[in-house]
Amino acid sequence: MNPSVKNRIARDDPDSMPTETVFVGIGGNIGDSVTIVEQTLVQLNNIRGCDLSGQSSLYRSEAVSDIPQDDYINAVVMIDTSLDPLALLLELEAIEHAYYRQRDPDLPNAPRTLDLDIILFGNRVISDSHLTIPHPRFATRLFVLEPMLEIADDRFIPGFGSLSFLIDQAPDIEMIKLDA
Ligand code: ADP
Ligand code: MG
Repeated sequence: MNPSVKNRIARDDPDSMPTETVFVGIGGNIGDSVTIVEQTLVQLNNIRGCDLSGQSSLYRSEAVSDIPQDDYINAVVMIDTSLDPLALLLELEAIEHAYYRQRDPDLPNAPRTLDLDIILFGNRVISDSHLTIPHPRFATRLFVLEPMLEIADDRFIPGFGSLSFLIDQAPDIEMIKLDA
């Protein structure tokens, strides 16, 4: 093959590009949430240019919402990805849609089959109309911080502090770790 064509293919192949480490929060409270979260782990690993490099236990956590609703099943995964943040967000939205996630802009904390949030994307700081990274509310959400501590050690997050510090400060909610 012409070497320049070969180089171009290698450059465009997401599996051969430099990767960044991303943490994604998973949650859901409609339907069989344990099964949905477990299937989502497989689907995340199947995204071209994404390798699942860590996964927390599953947790059952009390909903943080003004609307009375069922408990959530939550987990956090670590992914090595060559995708850029917006491309990853689109992949996550495609998985959400596959589980019939409905969004009502007037009900931001409504129950949902599946919610996938980018918590951290390498050391990037992003603030645009589609994406805020680090995730705008991760630092006060115990259902993100506790699972993340399992797979990220006691990571220091610039501008926020260590995970254990954030866990100490976060409002308490009822959470139980589910058996593997
Ligand atoms: P929430 O996760 O806060 O309950 P949604 O899942 O409905 O709300 O997300 C609303 C919007 O948040 C999405 O359309 C997406 O563009 C935006 N968004 C901003 N930052 C992030 C992020 N870090 N991860 C996922 N979505 C994000
Ligand atoms: Mg979301």
